[in-house]
Amino acid sequence: STKNLASKIDFPFEEGCRVPDTKAPRASAAFVMLARNSELADVVSSMRSMERHFNQWFEYPWVFLNDDEFTDAFKREVRKHTKAGIEFGTIDQKAWNFPENIDKEHFSEYIQGQGDRKVMYGNLESYHKMCRFYSGNFYDHPLVQKRDWYWRVEPDVQFFCDLTYDPFLEMERHGKKYGFNVLLEELYYTVPSLFLETKAFIAENNLKVKSAWDIMVKKYQTLTDSTKFDYFTWTNYEDLREQVEQNLKLNRFLKKKKKTDDDLKTLKDLKNVRDVFKDATSLPTLMLDKVHDEEYNLCHFWSNFEIARTDIFLSDTYQKYFKHLETVGGFYKERWGDAPVHSLAVAMMLDRKELHYFRDIGYQHSEFGHCPNNAPGKQLPYVSNGFDDYAPKPWYSTFLNRGPGAPAKNGVGCRCECP
Ligand code: GDP
Ligand code: MN
Repeated sequence: STKNLASKIDFPFEEGCRVPDTKAPRASAAFVMLARNSELADVVSSMRSMERHFNQWFEYPWVFLNDDEFTDAFKREVRKHTKAGIEFGTIDQKAWNFPENIDKEHFSEYIQGQGDRKVMYGNLESYHKMCRFYSGNFYDHPLVQKRDWYWRVEPDVQFFCDLTYDPFLEMERHGKKYGFNVLLEELYYTVPSLFLETKAFIAENNLKVKSAWDIMVKKYQTLTDSTKFDYFTWTNYEDLREQVEQNLKLNRFLKKKKKTDDDLKTLKDLKNVRDVFKDATSLPTLMLDKVHDEEYNLCHFWSNFEIARTDIFLSDTYQKYFKHLETVGGFYKERWGDAPVHSLAVAMMLDRKELHYFRDIGYQHSEFGHCPNNAPGKQLPYVSNGFDDYAPKPWYSTFLNRGPGAPAKNGVGCRCECP
C-alpha cells in the first residue's frame, strides 16, 4: 500500500537511513537563524541537535542574523558547536524597522489596541518587526540572497531523527521548492484582513493562482450565528451591511473572466471603502473575509521550520505582494505572522507538487512538533488543517523505517529520539 500512496502523495525522499555521503557535492544552501544575543543557550541547543542529527555529515554553513551586533561571547560560543562555516549578519535598521510612511500618529494605539484585545504577541512591537522582517527584508539580506536555498532554524528547536540524505539536493531533484514539517491553524485575530488583501492583490495583478491555493482556502457558504456574534462584538450592524454589499461586489469582480473598465472602476471604489475603515483598526475588514465565498482556512506552514528556495521570495510577484501587504499596514495594524504570509504566497504561486512535506523529520518547537509514527513513546500534538487530501490523516508517517530499531550501518545509527 505504500506504493499506492507513493503515486498519490508527496512521498518521503528516502525510507530508513543510509550512510551519509560526506563527499557528495553540496547545494548552495545554509541554515539561517535570526536570534538575539540573549538567546545564546537556546541557539546552542538548536545547533547541537541539528549537528547531531544531520550536519555533522553535511557541514552546511550557519548564518546568524540579528538586528543588533552579535557580541564576541556569542560568536565565540556558537563557533564551538560546528565544524561548518559560520557567517554573522547585522540587519540594518532600515530593513528591521517600520518604514517612514506608516501612520506614526496612531502606531502605538494600534499596537496597544491589539494588546487590549489579547491578540497573541499583539502588544509586542519587536514581534511585529520580526514578522515583518521574515515576510520581506529577510530575503534581501546578502547572506540569504546569495544562496539558492535556506533552511530556517530557530533557537530552542529539536530534531529527533537522523537525516542521512541531503534535503536540498533531493528537493532540487524532485522539482520541490518549499518544504515544511508542521502545519497549524492561525489565530484568527492576528490576521483578520490578510486574506482580503491577498485577494485584492491577486485581483489587481490579474494573477491566476496555482494549484496549492486549494490547501489554504475553504468555501464559505453563509454567516453562521456564531460568526455573526463575533462580528457584532466588534462593530455595528450598519457597518456590516455595507461591508457585505461591498464584498459581494468584490466577489462578482473576482469571478468575472473578462474585466471591463467599469469593473476596474468598481475595484477602485472598493479600495476606497477599505480606506474609510482603515482608522477603525481595520477590524471591519474581518467581516469582509467571512462573507467571501472563498475564505482563508487559517492553515499555515509553521515557518520556524522551512527548507525553501530563496528565489520564490525574490520573485517579482512575491516582492510586489510584500509591498502590497506593507502598504496596507497589516504588520502593525494587525499582527500578521510571517507564516501565514509565506503560506498564502506559496499557495498562490506554486503548484502542489512543488511543495514537500518532510514527514520523516522529527521536529519540535515549543508545544508543537511532528514525529514519525514508529518512534517510541507518545506522539506529539498536532493540529489538523486543509492538507487532508494531500497527506493521509493523521499526518504522522506510518510507513517509515525509522526509530531506534533500525540497524546502524557502518557506525551511523538511525536515531529517532522522539519524546
Ligand atoms: P515564536 O516562536 O513565534 O514564539 O517567536 P520567537 O520569539 O521565538 O521569535 C521568532 C524568531 O525571531 C526567533 O528566532 C527569535 O530569536 C527571533 N526574534 C524575535 N524577536 C527578535 C528581535 O527583536 N531581535 C532579534 N534579533 N531576533 C528576534
Ligand atoms: Mn520561537
